[in-house]
Amino acid sequence: MPKQKISLVDHCVSEVGRLAGQDFFKSEDSLIADLAKALATTCDDSEHATRMISTWKAQTRTMLHESDLRLLADQTRPAKTVQTFGKCRLSLCAGMGWIRVFSLWTRKVGPTGYGFVEKQRITEAEYDDLCTKIDWQKQTAYSGVKQCECGA
Ligand SMILES: [Zn+2]
Repeated sequence: MPKQKISLVDHCVSEVGRLAGQDFFKSEDSLIADLAKALATTCDDSEHATRMISTWKAQTRTMLHESDLRLLADQTRPAKTVQTFGKCRLSLCAGMGWIRVFSLWTRKVGPTGYGFVEKQRITEAEYDDLCTKIDWQKQTAYSGVKQCECGA
């Protein structure tokens, strides 16, 4: 069994223990274990499990049953927030996961007479400037996107 799963169940066992003051609470280990297991599979994470138990205690004096879990889980899930871009740890892409890149390709002829292309990374400002200046017969300015190294 993966380690994380075990710790979530353990967490849920202690959460179920917080229900000890509820009416009809059964302290048998097997019942607590069953309810904790059910709680662990219903909740999204350990924080959600805690929120579920706290909410239950706040709304009723009666013991929580497995059949209550599904509804309780839905009730205590945070409202879906609008998807927003995160932060880029490299401060490059604003969390979008990609950045614009610009390059200048210059066709040249080497000393042996063979043509080759020299590729040069340029900035966006240089790109804007060069577009009106370069000799398009010999040079090409490219803009494109590439994945940000932050892996967002
Ligand atoms: Zn990034």
